[in-house]
Amino acid sequence: MTRITNCFLGLFLTSLVAACGSGETPAEPAKPAPPAADDSIDLIVNGAHIVTMDAAGSVLENGAVAIDDGLILAIGPADEIASEYSAAVTLDGKRRIVMPGLVNGHSHAAMTLLRGVADDLALMDWLQNYIFPAEVEFVDADFVRIGTELACWEMIRGGTTTFVDMYYYPDTIAKVVEDCGMRALISATVIDQRSPDAENAGDGISKGGGFVERWKDRNSRITPIFGPHANYTLNAEQLAATRAAAMELGVPISIHMSESPFELQYSQDTYGMPSIEMFESIGFFEGPTIAAHVVWPTEDEIPILAERNVGVIHNPTSNMKIASGIAPITEMLEAGVRVGLGTDGAASNNDLDMWEEMRLAAFLQKVDRMDPTAIPATTVLRMATSGGATAIGLGETIGSLEVGKRADLIQVAFEDVHHVPTYDVVSHLVYVTDEQDVASVVIDGKVVMFERKITSIDTERVAEEANALAGRIKAALDQRNQAN
Ligand SMILES: [Zn+2]
Repeated sequence: MTRITNCFLGLFLTSLVAACGSGETPAEPAKPAPPAADDSIDLIVNGAHIVTMDAAGSVLENGAVAIDDGLILAIGPADEIASEYSAAVTLDGKRRIVMPGLVNGHSHAAMTLLRGVADDLALMDWLQNYIFPAEVEFVDADFVRIGTELACWEMIRGGTTTFVDMYYYPDTIAKVVEDCGMRALISATVIDQRSPDAENAGDGISKGGGFVERWKDRNSRITPIFGPHANYTLNAEQLAATRAAAMELGVPISIHMSESPFELQYSQDTYGMPSIEMFESIGFFEGPTIAAHVVWPTEDEIPILAERNVGVIHNPTSNMKIASGIAPITEMLEAGVRVGLGTDGAASNNDLDMWEEMRLAAFLQKVDRMDPTAIPATTVLRMATSGGATAIGLGETIGSLEVGKRADLIQVAFEDVHHVPTYDVVSHLVYVTDEQDVASVVIDGKVVMFERKITSIDTERVAEEANALAGRIKAALDQRNQAN
């Protein structure tokens, strides 16, 4: 099994190197141009179509986006942009669709290293008998560094430019994100049990506070937040204390909410009410909240989510794989709830492919309601871009291609046979495009992937380190299985 993985990674790396040798790569595309005497700007990105995802859903043919200092300066016809600006780097737009980078609203990035460790299990069995014990045994700062690098590589390759993470050793996650150029909200996990980086909830809150203070004003791409795990791994007082700490430091919270029938029953038994009502009863929604899953909201709870501006992150693959259920996305959207999309961790997905999430989100609603008109392609694409950005509190900064927003955008190659012919670009992006079609990725105005070659991560080193670490985990698991 390890041999196959090594071989696959080897082939993949070889193809990256081959792509790199095409001769068109600017020497240092990730670096902005030095301030020049002329009006030279950093970057122009051209596209056969520019799918802006602005409020009107504008799509420009043969357009271009002008970028300087990480900001979108102008969007318009390619010839007009070319005559108005000269740029240090220009990306060609032939057979390229330009659109906002994807927003992965819920992940546990470093769990890429636990991909496939335990499959085909229910959430509580999976968590308590496999994931939590494996994490206590194997997860340290080095595990988190390598796993997060692996995840950032996979996400950049697939066109994800922003993610919301919840895992251990958040300083390590933040450092990886700082170095690889992505944008992220990074949670300090709070859970009332011994975890890899804290003894209990109180310890988690206090260490989380230190993390938030260290990173709050350090890098505009990184937002440190709190990540209380759920209302079955923390009691009401601990949840309220985490919210109080987040309010004091002025940061949002990311949490699992109303995920499984187990949680629904637990909340009813423990608090005498379903989860979302319980959170409302303790004033949890007084501050910005990113709620992952929300599969089982009651009819009375959906208006609470809308009124409190809770950002709901739908994770269709994880919900299907763990059989948590089908989230009532259609009802939530109709009620005005802010809904984004996420992959969840690679151990319950098992990849970080947002294109697959888009497709499954659409299909799941259609078959659940027996209504093929349920959440159409444009709605799903919005959930993965501007809607997702709004759900995580970054709607003013990213999520659409508009003048004044940060330049987080991708070029999707429309040249594979599955894009021939193309009648409707948005339909193709949702129902056809795969992560392998993403050609170039720009985050905060920097080119972090150019024609499938990632420029901000040493992918060869990361693959080597990940395989070495996975080898040690596998040996320990084999030993434990033999002992049992
Ligand atoms: Zn999760």
